[in-house]
Amino acid sequence: MQREIVLVPDPRLSTPCASVENFGEEVRQLVEDLTDTMRAGVGSVGVAAPQIGEMWRVAVVDTSNHRKFGPASQGFFALINPKITTREGEREGREGCMSLPDFTANVRRAQTVTVQYQTVEGEVKTVVCTDFEAVAMQHEIDHLDGILFLDRVSNLQTDVFPRKKK
Ligand SMILES: [Zn+2]
Repeated sequence: MQREIVLVPDPRLSTPCASVENFGEEVRQLVEDLTDTMRAGVGSVGVAAPQIGEMWRVAVVDTSNHRKFGPASQGFFALINPKITTREGEREGREGCMSLPDFTANVRRAQTVTVQYQTVEGEVKTVVCTDFEAVAMQHEIDHLDGILFLDRVSNLQTDVFPRKKK
């Protein structure tokens, strides 16, 4: 079910989330709601649980429909308790967020990351992501720590842009 997006300055967006310990129907349902909410967002490549008001370390990422970076995508990820275990290189790119609909910003991120996460069944997996997909992973995992992309902007005067109204 598509859920309503929590918007800045809601304090839940700056609150760290709790780890999932019970892998059951509730986690499966949360992943389904996150997926529906991501698919409903125009150009959205990820959503994290606190963005729908659920304070758990769960997020979904799928960059495969992105017009430019889609071909390099590894597809859909449901990330339970994800953490970044290695970071390499540096990359700056424009980011947006469903919880901050009025702005985009240039954000500096690692170019390649290794993400360790659990599946909805609790199985531990590892994936290496680069470029845009790595940025999506870093952006969503930041949400689980209560960090927004604006918190990562080096210069709020020059690196933040109003989003063009459709
Ligand atoms: Zn976001």
